[in-house]
Amino acid sequence: MSPFKTPVATSADSRDHRGAWCNHLPFGIIPDIMDIVILLGAPGSGKGTVAAALAGRGGSFNHVSTGELLRAAVAKGTPAGVEAKSYMDSGSLVPDAVVAQMVKDVVDAASGDAATMLLDGFPRNLAQAEILEKMGAPVKKAVLIDVPDGIIQDRIAGRRTCPKCKAGYHVKNLPPKVEGVCDKCGAQLTVRKDDNPETVRDRLAVYHRETEPLVAFYENKGLLARIDGTRGVEATCKAFVEAAGLK
Ligand SMILES: [Zn+2]
Repeated sequence: MSPFKTPVATSADSRDHRGAWCNHLPFGIIPDIMDIVILLGAPGSGKGTVAAALAGRGGSFNHVSTGELLRAAVAKGTPAGVEAKSYMDSGSLVPDAVVAQMVKDVVDAASGDAATMLLDGFPRNLAQAEILEKMGAPVKKAVLIDVPDGIIQDRIAGRRTCPKCKAGYHVKNLPPKVEGVCDKCGAQLTVRKDDNPETVRDRLAVYHRETEPLVAFYENKGLLARIDGTRGVEATCKAFVEAAGLK
């Protein structure tokens, strides 16, 4: 039985502070109005950019990135957050089950919400996808933003960052007025450690090994949609909204 889809009347309901009218609600036939859409794609495929662009224009969905979720749970000191912090403090990876608990906490909190929840960064491997399934989470679609590795490498290799004011540039797509110099503060632009070609190769290898199996996992369930992520933010957003059935 799904803990998300089947509200069950308990004796507590009759004592509900909201008043006696609650007793007359037809528990058990409340429609399932929250869906989950999973964002899939390699690092550099534009998942964050697409989610930010969609959030910027307003829409009936909540973007939940695992990184933000983790920071929020730790800051709030939820039980899962406290446990996650103990792993992070000792320099270990937070186990799948603990990350899943955090996701469950936000899904539970949003249950009954009319908005679609966009999950970004979770699940990141098959074990996490199976946990999500056991939780009975109402996954409506998994959308893969498809970008070939070569294009991702070019995109990331061209990134430049200002170490002083943190402004971001790209040698091809967003060049500074003077090569290698920040427009805003005049500092010498640098390449972030995460954007080194060797680091990018490693991150792509981890993606192919750990996360890409999810593409087949959701395809087998008939939930996968693929969109072309090589055509710029505007076109990718449009394709994403259609594929995910967002409004
Ligand atoms: Zn600067």
